[in-house]
Amino acid sequence: MATLLAEGVWWLDVGVIRPYDTNAFLVDDGTVTLVDTGLWRNCPSLASELADAGYEIEDVDRVLLTHYDLDHTGGLSRLTPAFDGPVYLGAADVALYTGRWDPPWTHPKGLYHRLARRLVPLSETLDVRSVEDGDRIGSFTAYHTPGHNPGHTAYVHDSGAAFVGDLVWGGADGLTTPVWLDSYDVGQLKASAIDLLGRAPPFAVLAMGHGDPITADGDRALRRYVGGL
Ligand SMILES: [Zn+2]
Repeated sequence: MATLLAEGVWWLDVGVIRPYDTNAFLVDDGTVTLVDTGLWRNCPSLASELADAGYEIEDVDRVLLTHYDLDHTGGLSRLTPAFDGPVYLGAADVALYTGRWDPPWTHPKGLYHRLARRLVPLSETLDVRSVEDGDRIGSFTAYHTPGHNPGHTAYVHDSGAAFVGDLVWGGADGLTTPVWLDSYDVGQLKASAIDLLGRAPPFAVLAMGHGDPITADGDRALRRYVGGL
């Protein structure tokens, strides 16, 4: 079921089965932006969640990807060919999925990402654009937040909504750190969260890739998580 988090900001719950759920978000500020897309197969589906919010795939103008992991990028295959707008992804993760950069074999995600880019590549017809720290994309600002993935990027909308992917996870007992097995550098995760808090304007909505989004004082919740800074 699609849930309105703030004016023009929708939470699309495209999970498989809880707790293995994944979030996508839609922001309509005159331009319709989808942030992350879930797996290639979800229940409910991305299309039905879009419909629940009152949109069709054709309405989506652009996609922002927080990082190149299949539970965030897989749903792109459900959008094409009706969607033909630009797809934004952190520069280091573009290098990861195109094979211009090889993850170390010794890392738990080294094998996973090598396999993923061969078995589930992004469509060659997609207009994938590299995002650098500080880039402006419409009313979003991109913040490079490495740790979970080398090119992991958070997007903060001017209305006060932060889309932070797997920088943190939501849980019944509050925000948690993504597990080491699923992250390139766990130590970098909190450093990236601190860096984001230091540079981004205040935000009410904290929208994570997993777990229920926070709709009020999201920046304070993230501040508490990193240690009450
Ligand atoms: Zn994820």
